[in-house]
Amino acid sequence: MNLHEYQGKSILSNYGVRVQRGLVAYNADEAVDQAKRLSQETGTKWWVVKAQIHAGGRGKGGGVKLAKNIDEVREKADAIIGMMLISPQTPPQGKKVHKVLIAEDVYYPGASETKEYYMSVLLDRASGKNVIVYSTEGGMDIEEVAEHHPDKIHKEVIDPRVGLRPFQCNKIATALGVTGAAKKEMGKFIASLYKAYEGCDAAMFEINPVLKTSDDKIIAVDAKVRLDGNALYRHPDYAEMRDKTEEDPIEVEAGEAGLNYVRLDGNVGCMVNGAGLAMATMDIIKLSGGEPANFLDVGGTADAARVEKAFRIILKDERVKAILVNIFGGIVRCDRVAQGIVDAYKNIGDIKVPIIVRLQGTNAIEAKELIDKSGLKVLSAVALQEAADRVKEVLK
Ligand code: GDP
Ligand code: MN
Repeated sequence: MNLHEYQGKSILSNYGVRVQRGLVAYNADEAVDQAKRLSQETGTKWWVVKAQIHAGGRGKGGGVKLAKNIDEVREKADAIIGMMLISPQTPPQGKKVHKVLIAEDVYYPGASETKEYYMSVLLDRASGKNVIVYSTEGGMDIEEVAEHHPDKIHKEVIDPRVGLRPFQCNKIATALGVTGAAKKEMGKFIASLYKAYEGCDAAMFEINPVLKTSDDKIIAVDAKVRLDGNALYRHPDYAEMRDKTEEDPIEVEAGEAGLNYVRLDGNVGCMVNGAGLAMATMDIIKLSGGEPANFLDVGGTADAARVEKAFRIILKDERVKAILVNIFGGIVRCDRVAQGIVDAYKNIGDIKVPIIVRLQGTNAIEAKELIDKSGLKVLSAVALQEAADRVKEVLK
């Protein structure tokens, strides 16, 4: 589950990480009020108006603007709220901005001594350990740094059984070239950041930029946080931070129906029982020249109601040109599933895309008969290869 910058910063702050402070506003009037409040609390004279969407690269897309007086706060908030913000990390049409963070300016004017760094904590699947990725090249697109200056990206692997050791914090701070009072601050910053990552069962904390201010403070200016959705039951307060308006509406609906659905970019929808079989089905679709439009595991109980719901969800994606149903009847009986498919087809009505159904396992023969006799535009197959060939045919 992804969080907004302001939510990530509030978690960080609770763990003792110093952050660029800010207040959220949903319209220009609120933005002005929040800017005044923020100045009372922090003494800031300038503000940064920051679009809150689940995507990075907002600055480049015009979603982060400096305001040097209250009129500018109003003007910039008004321009950003409601805009379709396009960045390298948003869909091509952009993402609509519903709220902004009015943040204190931490790049004090005239300060030549500020320096930006990059730091993230995430799980390194290869080593099965946590890793802190850091770089002196902060504030920039880290993918670009990785491509052109891979030598400027460093990694510190942390054994989760032991935790982050003080010498590691020191090593990172040294490698970043931080000295004096700022070095001590950096050590604290890293330790607290790692504590936050562990404490909230995060999948990732990315702080870009980490800023060293002219007065040697180390501050998280940005926060991109992804929490592990499977661990949310341990954090009901974080679960409440979920912003469904930022997620794909089809995925939200599927989740509410208890379907394991992930939207992809292809043209062949698929409905499968079991995650492993679903992956194999996606491979088969690719081999036959198609591209899967989704991953969908309907689960062990592929009853009529679930099959219908799954069809409706797949059909919401306009790019779908064919649907491949691949069910292995182990516990479920294929003829029941087949009946479910026939019923769903009739209930939904007006299905324009061809449907290829492959049912294998218990009562597969009966199931095939049921489909073939239904008179519907549903093609049946027994072998997986046969199903793939039919997908190929209909895509032509
Ligand atoms: P992103 O573009 O989505 O990564 O958003 P960031 O929060 O990282 O902000 C983008 C850029 O805005 C930063 O790299 C800074 O250069 C700039 N910025 C952020 N906060 C401040 C601030 O307090 N003062 C000034 N002058 N610039 C800021
Ligand atoms: Mn950033």
